[in-house]
Amino acid sequence: MAKEQRTIFIIFGGSGDLAHRKLYPALFKLYVKGYLQDHFAVIGTARRPWSHEYFRQTVMESIGADIGDQEKISSFAQHFYYQAHDVNDANHYVALKKLAAQLSQQYQTGANQIFYMAVAPRFFGTVASHINSEGLLTAQGYNRLVIEKPFGRDLKSATELNSSIAATFQENQIYRIDHYLGKEMVQALPLLRFTNPILEAVWNKNYLSNVQITLAETLGVGERAGYYETAGALRDMIQNHALQILGLVAMEKPQEFSSAAVHQEKSRLFAQLPTYSPEQVAVNFVRGQYGADHKGNQLAYRQADNVADDSPIETFVAGKILIDNPRWQGVPFYVRSGKRLCQKTTRIDLVFKTTANKIFSQAQLQEVATQPVILSIFVEPTQGLSLALNGTNPGMALRPFMHTLDFWQSQEEMSNSQEAYEKLLIDIIHGDQTNFTNWQEQEHTWRFIDQIRQYWDQNVPQFPNYYSNSFGPKASNELLARDGNEWVWSNEFGQ
Ligand code: NAD
Repeated sequence: MAKEQRTIFIIFGGSGDLAHRKLYPALFKLYVKGYLQDHFAVIGTARRPWSHEYFRQTVMESIGADIGDQEKISSFAQHFYYQAHDVNDANHYVALKKLAAQLSQQYQTGANQIFYMAVAPRFFGTVASHINSEGLLTAQGYNRLVIEKPFGRDLKSATELNSSIAATFQENQIYRIDHYLGKEMVQALPLLRFTNPILEAVWNKNYLSNVQITLAETLGVGERAGYYETAGALRDMIQNHALQILGLVAMEKPQEFSSAAVHQEKSRLFAQLPTYSPEQVAVNFVRGQYGADHKGNQLAYRQADNVADDSPIETFVAGKILIDNPRWQGVPFYVRSGKRLCQKTTRIDLVFKTTANKIFSQAQLQEVATQPVILSIFVEPTQGLSLALNGTNPGMALRPFMHTLDFWQSQEEMSNSQEAYEKLLIDIIHGDQTNFTNWQEQEHTWRFIDQIRQYWDQNVPQFPNYYSNSFGPKASNELLARDGNEWVWSNEFGQ
């Protein structure tokens, strides 16, 4: 049984999709494991006038029967309270403060409070400033703010948002969620890099030819079209998830594995993201938007509800990033993310340089070329590692043949592993900010993303330019081909 933690969660947007799909099941798992026992309470706030009882009912329904028995779910739900709330109404914060104080007494939570913003981003600043002005922060316990993505839509709006929350919360109280940082294999990256000399020694420009980060989805935009039309893949996936993964792959070794040291190294790395002229953006970043599939079974993005017939919004991005520092000079990092691709996968592929083959003649190798060594790290849906090495097959003399050394997490282990939100909530109640993004990282990554966005906004794209159920637009493959490289995850030209 885990050590019990005392706290109150105040969830703004307690009736919403995120709260029901992710937060309540994750909190329940913390309850089953003992992180939460008797001394916790959850206040859900939203606009509708619900009773505590009705709210508890919705919470119980959000927890699948597969993760707990009914009795446990029901005792968990007794810790939940509801407060009807309009984010703009100061009186509602006063009522909330009163309820939190009462529950703090009742559950002996040590006046610890976690404020969770599960509302639309335009409310983040308003809620934070009312928390301050109506005096919701407690002096005795801790006060932590959890903030969901998106953190702004460009550097300007992110800076404004940050100023509005920084007026109430210190940086060491702010937990900016990037749920990719809660995924097992992403969290494993520092361990993998810095505890295996066999990897640490070659993790640099001397041995690596290029690094590829792919976040591919099979789903289309679904019901999120309203939001997506204002965002696009560059903001939705690259600024945060893809670059955060890049940060962990490319940062220098931190002095110790602490939140401060990891953030320092990631921030330093992000400060080195390149500055691109418009011409360089055009060369180094490509965008796409999905059309229907070859068979016409899946609709094009522009045919989805709430999407403009001539929408210029990208559902696919691929880009080349060069980091000009001693470790990475000349090694392209290729990032890619797209919707409606042919497979759901998040993976990192490290492609090694081919050594100049000095000692074997072509005849000795039976005219078969050796291949680059590739280390692939699979983040989801499967979790594992695969190292492809040159070898031979028995009886084939020196004829080169790729062998892969694989490690796959079993289905059973994967189903026992903690979901991202569960891990991140544990970190929040422990006060560990390592797996969250800090302001400097946001600032640098937005500065980088803005230059691409600005160029794209001034140039009308030719969309759609790839079929649903493909590998994305041709231009994505051409981006690598120009450097003599190719995507590891790809075996045909999608269009
Ligand atoms: P949602 O629309 O399902 O829920 C929004 C919540 O805000 C509801 O509880 C609603 O009652 C409340 N609300 C709306 N207007 C309000 C007002 N004026 N005063 C008080 N409460 C108000 O949204 P969601 O999908 O749960 O997303 C919540 C946040 O989480 C957003 O910032 C979103 O970007 C982020 N997010 C969501 C997901 C997801 O999977 N749903 C994933 C990543 C990030």
